[in-house]
Amino acid sequence: LVLRCSLCGSRAFTRVRYSRLSLCRRHYAEFFERRVKNTVERYRLFKNVKRLLVCVSGGKDSVAMLYALKPYAEKCNVELLGLTIDLGIGDYSKRSVEAAVEAFKNNDVEYLLVDLSAEYGFDLDTVAENVEKLRMPKGVCSYCGSVKRYIFNKAALDSECDAVATGHNLDDLLSFTLTSMASGQVDLLIKLQPKNRGVDRLVTRIRPLATLTNRETLLYVMSIGASYVDLECPYTPERSMQKTIVEKLSEIEHRYPGFKLALYKSLLRVLRKTEVKTGPLVHCEKCGMPSSTRICSFCRLKSLMTERIGEKTTETRVTARRV
Ligand code: SF4
Ligand code: ZN
Ligand code: ZN
Repeated sequence: LVLRCSLCGSRAFTRVRYSRLSLCRRHYAEFFERRVKNTVERYRLFKNVKRLLVCVSGGKDSVAMLYALKPYAEKCNVELLGLTIDLGIGDYSKRSVEAAVEAFKNNDVEYLLVDLSAEYGFDLDTVAENVEKLRMPKGVCSYCGSVKRYIFNKAALDSECDAVATGHNLDDLLSFTLTSMASGQVDLLIKLQPKNRGVDRLVTRIRPLATLTNRETLLYVMSIGASYVDLECPYTPERSMQKTIVEKLSEIEHRYPGFKLALYKSLLRVLRKTEVKTGPLVHCEKCGMPSSTRICSFCRLKSLMTERIGEKTTETRVTARRV
């Protein structure tokens, strides 16, 4: 039995269970792009945005976001500027940057490439090495997240973009929110939204894939044949609460198609009725960026890491002389 596209009758590529449609590659791609467009419209993601910084890591989500957003942004007269960061995670970063650059070129989008090591004097491999050695309080991914957020924001300010777009999908947002709630960090609930309006020097954040799942996003990049990096970062934790939540939610989604989206919309409704207080912002004494502490987390990490690198080079120099 060959499944046929419900719209054109050609061979089906996938079935969208909650809308009871079988779709060929072309019609699936259109379906996905329409969903992204609807998210942008419904949550007014382009309101007051003339120039948008699109952050692409080279993974399937951010690549999908760029391809799906480009034609619609053009129609809305929103100018896109790409950003990708070389985090310095060996081969993984090299391949990721290549995939991101390919996506920018294919979409004819100008882009910035920030090399963490060249620009700030440390990389993620150094962070990972020292997380254990120095018994740092958080995991590698948490520092990586703060590095990315910092660079996204700084690049947007420097290049006069009105907003930053990231490829977080429905699974990311739900699992992040539920994890935050389980650990009592209720104020993080606000990051569930497809849009967080900027304050002070914190640039507006938008998440155009907020209503699309991991699976739907993967199917989209496959349907258009876009290349993305399929390597897993070596620092991905083997087990985490967030990963477990995604697995469990996906099991429920499989049994009850549409569950994730319904849950997401309900949580947004709850959020709208809740007053979530975020702490006051000050300006980092070192870099002037908005921060909740006197010195921002990025500057603290940077000084700690560059100090460690300095010590290491002196150590090797001394040993070298001895030999
Ligand atoms: Fe960064 Fe962790 Fe993602 Fe690797 S897995 S890129 S360290 S956040
Ligand atoms: Zn079709
Ligand atoms: Zn700072």
